[in-house]
Amino acid sequence: MNLKNLNKILEKEPDFRKKQIEKLIYQKAIEDWNNATELPLNLRKELSEKTSLKIKAKLVKSKDAEKALIRLNDNYQTETVLMKHNKGNTVCVSSQVGCALGCKFCATAKIGLKRNLETEEILEQVLLFKRNYKIRNVVFMGMGEPFLNYENVLSVIKIINSKNAFNIGARRISISTAGIVEGIEKLSNEKLKINLAISLHAGNNKLRERLMPISKKYPLELVLKTVNTYIKKTKRKVMFEYALMKNVNDSLKDAKELSKIMNHPLYMVNLIKYNDTKEFKAPSKERIKEFKDFLKNQGINTTERYRFGRDIWAGCGQLCLKK
Ligand code: SF4
Repeated sequence: MNLKNLNKILEKEPDFRKKQIEKLIYQKAIEDWNNATELPLNLRKELSEKTSLKIKAKLVKSKDAEKALIRLNDNYQTETVLMKHNKGNTVCVSSQVGCALGCKFCATAKIGLKRNLETEEILEQVLLFKRNYKIRNVVFMGMGEPFLNYENVLSVIKIINSKNAFNIGARRISISTAGIVEGIEKLSNEKLKINLAISLHAGNNKLRERLMPISKKYPLELVLKTVNTYIKKTKRKVMFEYALMKNVNDSLKDAKELSKIMNHPLYMVNLIKYNDTKEFKAPSKERIKEFKDFLKNQGINTTERYRFGRDIWAGCGQLCLKK
């Protein structure tokens, strides 16, 4: 897709035309300007010549998910996943090509950071699925750290939320961070009612630093202090994601440590059974139940995430441009 020339072309057009075009791209999700018969012929022609709506993507499907490998204009690729739930579909988008943060359990980390994605390149991930499905939720949990591409991610969120574009409610948009405190601070001033999630995965700094090297820069105390200020300002709940890995962070001792820091009524813990890799394995069902029950008995709001698309390398931590 290439909408870089769009604003220039629409400069001379009245406001209603700009809104009409926004609706055509994002709500009607047209794939070809020739289908926009409500536009004057000369404008349709100019748009066809100068702005492409074509998204180059390879799709891989499983029973509960679809993964798209999108080829960008400079030949880099990015990935996006559609998760099919009986309550509605969720698109999990990437904010960067690869990632610089090097989390040990994450396949994306092995690619390293290639570059940030442009606003349009993030939007086309949602648009690709919107062309065939009704989209209920959008989560920034794909490749990359969204707060290290803050401006582009925020402009995407505004378009996803806009009535003229995707019209998806703020409460149905979630952003997940490895704990970049500057990003959490900025978000707390945005007056957006979107959901914030923190990738936690450990209840102490030593283990977290081993799993997520970025915690050396942002230790737990600092992340939690910033989250508490965020909650004070926004009155919003915050989700802490905890991927359970066998013999790494899944013992009762780990659960106890976690329960000690999950000490705010607006904190929620979301447990994720890890998707096996060479280095890490998922714990048994029993072990997960024990961990979950312990947290629940401590009065901590705890849920367990259903795992979508594992068989097509579309699950949490599996995005690595593999077909
Ligand atoms: S888990 Fe997220 S932040 Fe960590 S390396 Fe993977 S994509 Fe980056």
